[in-house]
Amino acid sequence: MRLILVLAALCALAGTAWSRAQLPPVSAEPPAVIHAGLLLDGRGSSTRNAYIVVRNGKIERVTTTPVSVAGASAIELGTATLLPGLIDAHVHPGWYLDRQGKRNSQRSGDTPAQAALARAGNLYATLMAGVTTIQSVGGPEDIDLRDAVARGVIPGPRILTSITQLNSPRAPPDSLRLLVQALKAQGADLIKLFASSGLGAGGAQTMSDEQLAAICGEAKAQGLRSVVHAISAASVRAATLAGCTQIEHGTFVTDAELALMAEHGTIFDPQVCLVFQNYIDHPDAYNFTDSTLAPLKAALPTASRMFAKAIRTPGLKVVFGTDAVALAHGRNVEELVCRVHAGQSPMDAIVSATSAGAAALGLGTSLGVVAAGYDADLIAVNGDPSREIGALTHVVFVMRAGRRYR
Ligand SMILES: [Zn+2]
Repeated sequence: MRLILVLAALCALAGTAWSRAQLPPVSAEPPAVIHAGLLLDGRGSSTRNAYIVVRNGKIERVTTTPVSVAGASAIELGTATLLPGLIDAHVHPGWYLDRQGKRNSQRSGDTPAQAALARAGNLYATLMAGVTTIQSVGGPEDIDLRDAVARGVIPGPRILTSITQLNSPRAPPDSLRLLVQALKAQGADLIKLFASSGLGAGGAQTMSDEQLAAICGEAKAQGLRSVVHAISAASVRAATLAGCTQIEHGTFVTDAELALMAEHGTIFDPQVCLVFQNYIDHPDAYNFTDSTLAPLKAALPTASRMFAKAIRTPGLKVVFGTDAVALAHGRNVEELVCRVHAGQSPMDAIVSATSAGAAALGLGTSLGVVAAGYDADLIAVNGDPSREIGALTHVVFVMRAGRRYR
């Protein structure tokens, strides 16, 4: 009897430890009925006075008539605007400021726990800013971050990751195919590769047409998307012709490459301001000098003009990605604000960061839309962001997979 009591006590203790380390699965969350004065569905439509029933992490029903559900918690958002959680297609959650105030590196000397906490902080800031899904492009730490968020150990956006970035201008195509297969086996959600050098180095094409075709072709064969860093017009053209899924940056593209991407169905994720401005504002953290800052400053007006042409290119799919690095996590929406200043309508900007962003990730039937059957990734902001995009910086509510975080 005594032994049974001791065992029971031990089990109870173990149960307590488990529940502290790991929140219960989302199916254990009670159902909720959310009311908001305005609903943006993520596909470009808006509805006044919407009621959303959430159960088991999913949106069960959307209606304009008041509903009561037995056992449901009522979430009254008043005049706030409810919309799908934002999706950022290009984030580096592993980049953080080390204890010397520098972008983390091998020299940082941080303990694994310090690095993990800093990265958890990045994810928390991102989620609280209304971003409920990120594509990380990518670091080896992403697997643990992705799983910790998915298990409810830490609060954060859901993570898709490339684990690493392929950038091997001298590697034979066959070895690149093997690398893609190895990343798939390690659990990569996508493949990230470099078709060009960085902005500061001029952005010329680095990997050959044959290498690009090997990586993007093998990714497709493995059921993975391929996301390509490409700065110059030639590198964007090469990556598009190689059949890659999505192009990042494209700072120096011309009308011809924009039309080519549209023709091939290649998704485009250009950046207009946040990534450049963040480096310009924090040169010490990145050890940037006047000469390394010059191309970043020059890129700001160039990128705005390029973006204005991109959104006017018929048939071109433009999605939202920030390239958020250390000191930009949680500021993702600043990039959307710049895009609107560059000429995009606020509603189009919202669609690019919700339903269009979800479709680009291959998750268009589960994310990015407020409708029955979709995952309950929902945010609310004060004001109407479809009229004034800056309202997206006033986040008052965040729910991911049916669990409320803010
Ligand atoms: Zn990046």
